[in-house]
Amino acid sequence: MTMTTTATTQSEETYDEARKVIPGGVSSPVRAIKPHPFYTASAGGCMITDLDGNRYIDYCMGYGPLILGHAHPVIKSAVIDQLNRGWLYGTPIEAEVELASRIVSLYPSIEMLRFVSSGTEATMSALRLARGYTGRNKFVKIEGGFHGAHDAVLIKAGSGATTHGVPDSLGVPSDFTKHTLQAPYNDIEAITDIIESNRDDLAAVIIEPVLGNVGPILPVPGYLEALRRVTEENDVLLIFDEIITGFRLAMGGAQEYFGVVPDMTTLGKIVGGGFPFGVFGGKKEIMELISPSGGVYQAGTFSGNPVSVTAGLAVLDTLESEDVHRKLDASGSKLRSALQDIVSDLKLPYSVSGVGSIFKVFFGDLPRNYQDTLRCDKEEYLRFFSRMLESGVFIPPSQFETNFLSIAHTATDIEKTIDAYAANLK
Ligand SMILES: *Cc1c(COP(=O)(O)O)cnc(C)c1O
Repeated sequence: MTMTTTATTQSEETYDEARKVIPGGVSSPVRAIKPHPFYTASAGGCMITDLDGNRYIDYCMGYGPLILGHAHPVIKSAVIDQLNRGWLYGTPIEAEVELASRIVSLYPSIEMLRFVSSGTEATMSALRLARGYTGRNKFVKIEGGFHGAHDAVLIKAGSGATTHGVPDSLGVPSDFTKHTLQAPYNDIEAITDIIESNRDDLAAVIIEPVLGNVGPILPVPGYLEALRRVTEENDVLLIFDEIITGFRLAMGGAQEYFGVVPDMTTLGKIVGGGFPFGVFGGKKEIMELISPSGGVYQAGTFSGNPVSVTAGLAVLDTLESEDVHRKLDASGSKLRSALQDIVSDLKLPYSVSGVGSIFKVFFGDLPRNYQDTLRCDKEEYLRFFSRMLESGVFIPPSQFETNFLSIAHTATDIEKTIDAYAANLK
């Protein structure tokens, strides 16, 4: 390996200061790397540079948004141009109408939408709307599914919640979660039972079509189609949380990729071009119930802010004009098959998962659901994570997070990455 890290003294010192004023030293739990996180000084393309001058090939990519890589020049210049004209107006802007129209034309399930400032807000608002529209209280989520950090969805939640051992958060009154039902992923019988026995008070099923926040788990063939049928037959709304898969699997997300059309969709991450953003949308009849056209309240000072909207338009332009998904599918397939070869050659009891530009080595058998992922060797994964970091490759510091490829990862970067996996899995 040519890339090895040197000292990380400055990051270590900064972390000591951070822990005095910020709980756990971080602004979001997944960043709390042991023994200390590295502090980033700058990033460009697929590389991220820490305070001590170490450079890493990044596979976290902001945990999903940065499909074009860090500091992409097209987004940067669009945002600078916007900044020169101001960055918050408190009035509508033309660009938001353009972005909304483009999303509507790409997502079969979205006839109308609203912009918010995070994925958390998008799923929170979508669920409120689903309840308002149906006049029912309950919803079903998938075990290990992550839909942000609001009360109703913090039960058996993936992402940082599972990593840090608190999939059910303290501070959430059981009264707030008694309407949240759980079903295992990839098990159509189980979810059908739950839907049928609760249908009188069931507003919606919310699901990540590819379970992304416990590492990527793909739907078994026919699962999403069957779920669409069952929800329709029982008059229950189907919400796809496409905050990871939207604009990543295809321009039209997982609903285009798998050809299954939900009633409502949430988007975030990529569509903000790396700036805070979220979207929820669906059938016109449902969306028109949102305030001020209807009685379901939803609002935000920063909703549809000019910077995120501008960055979003720039990212959509670039994804389309540069045929990004075809290129990413090719590099993703190459990387996954190389990783599979390494795991097989070393006779490790590990598995390689992913689709398109997302991938993960599970330290265990290929999982079909949340319970399966919990059987993976997460301690060994963390030791492996540290060895990778020392080799100059930054993968997510948790068995339960997905690795993201961007268009900025070149063939050479991918070769280096494969070498690092081979050396560090040994
Ligand atoms: C990241 C994520 C969210 C939350 O989005 P934030 O912008 O972090 O609030 C919700 N759902 C899914 C599927 C996600 O991956």
